[in-house]
Amino acid sequence: MSTELSFFEQVNKNFDIAAVLTDHPRGLLEQIKSVNSVIHFTFPLIRDDESLEVIHAWRAEHSQHKLPTKGGIRYAANVNEDEVMALAALMTYKCAIVNVPFGGAKGGVKISAHEYSTRELERITRRFTFELNKKNFIGPGLDVPAPDFATSGREMAWIADTYLTLNPQEIDALGCVTAKPVGQGGIRGRVEATGRGVYFGLREACSVGDDMRSLGLNTGLESKRVVVQGLGNVGYHAAKFLQEDGGAEIVGVVEYEGAISKPDGIDVEALMAHRRETGSILDFEGAENLDVRDQGLELECDILVPAALENAITMDNAPRIKAKIIAEAANGPISSDASNHLFDRGVMIIPDAFINAGGVTVSYFEWLKNLQHVRFGRMEKRFTEGSSKKLLSAIESSTDRIFSDREIAEIAKGPGEIDLVNSGLEETMIEAYHEIREIKNAKGAAVDLRTASMIAAIDKVAVSYRELGVFP
Ligand code: NAD
Repeated sequence: MSTELSFFEQVNKNFDIAAVLTDHPRGLLEQIKSVNSVIHFTFPLIRDDESLEVIHAWRAEHSQHKLPTKGGIRYAANVNEDEVMALAALMTYKCAIVNVPFGGAKGGVKISAHEYSTRELERITRRFTFELNKKNFIGPGLDVPAPDFATSGREMAWIADTYLTLNPQEIDALGCVTAKPVGQGGIRGRVEATGRGVYFGLREACSVGDDMRSLGLNTGLESKRVVVQGLGNVGYHAAKFLQEDGGAEIVGVVEYEGAISKPDGIDVEALMAHRRETGSILDFEGAENLDVRDQGLELECDILVPAALENAITMDNAPRIKAKIIAEAANGPISSDASNHLFDRGVMIIPDAFINAGGVTVSYFEWLKNLQHVRFGRMEKRFTEGSSKKLLSAIESSTDRIFSDREIAEIAKGPGEIDLVNSGLEETMIEAYHEIREIKNAKGAAVDLRTASMIAAIDKVAVSYRELGVFP
């Protein structure tokens, strides 16, 4: 391993690099950087064979400058306190970058999810929630989890149900967790939100002619060659939207079981069907299996999207990476020395705290929906449709223009929940990208997008502290 820094130290190193470019007092910067609360606890699991196992779990609330704190829960064998603190800190910065009014948090349960039955996972999730509730580490106004590695809507529904059972009097209880299934208070568009956000962020970055020219690339996503690592929730949706909506070509995929390459493009849906059928991405028709899995990261391409776990790119492989743009869909996929090396080589790194913020953005919309107890669009959809139809009819009667039924249906369509969610996400990603790009340009060539996004985050959290003052 070429980097000696822990994940949290790496996040803090990035913070420190940005902090010196701000003019906030040292004490305030220390306060912003530090983890406000972290809890490590254990609880027993009765396994299906009746044996008893001790489960280790963590929850870190990095910054309570805004409440609730927000962040996913991951199930992984290598989860540890440092990792959870690092991810919680990233959540604080991420929320600030995309103007989501939450502090950052993260949770982890130290298990390999695939080694447990569904019943066991449910018992683990419910007991984990019980412990969080007992310790005041969950609640719609306190701390709101979401999915992360190896957790999904299923676990979120178990968390919501457990919390509701424990807090039957709390009218906003459904807002205790996000990314729930739509039938359980979830919101349309949340499942694919992080991947869609990666697509919007990349589309925006690739739309800036000057930046693309300096990378030797054409403007736009069309025909850009993309390699994706990790075809899970984030990676699959990012690949799907990049291909279907952006016209990019997915020329390589790296998964747990191996890697494949196909220079003329992999059909993402067909690959997913192949994986469901055979249990592997390998031996996909027309694609070549690579001998060594992680060589997939080094394939010839324009854009690399690491969407699996942290430290996928370190100094061990960074010198061989050929991509001109790397979109950090996963959290912390590039070690800090590898990041410096790639920046020096002119690679554009679009940082995790911005590019994968689509999930928390739509989680924010879900939380708002839970607090307002009504689906977005429900009140205004028909009204908007009616008003637009009246306007079209007024245009028809005052001009020669007659609109076809199809045109009327398209123009007068009232927004449903999914339309509002996607448009809110698109606006958020576009606005945030230009905010950090402007900071980068203002600070000069030595500052990369990671540092620029961290400066944006520090400034916003600092303003919050300054306006609130310090208690007591
Ligand atoms: P996931 O479990 O759905 O998918 C992860 C995928 O990576 C799986 O398909 C897994 O098989 C694959 N993988 C694991 N190890 C690998 C390896 N060594 N090489 C290649 N592939 C490997 O998880 P996810 O929700 O998609 O999260 C992925 C990353 O994105 C994590 O870093 C997570 O923190 C981050 N993230 C997720 C969200 C979200 O909304 N889910 C939001 C922001 C950030």
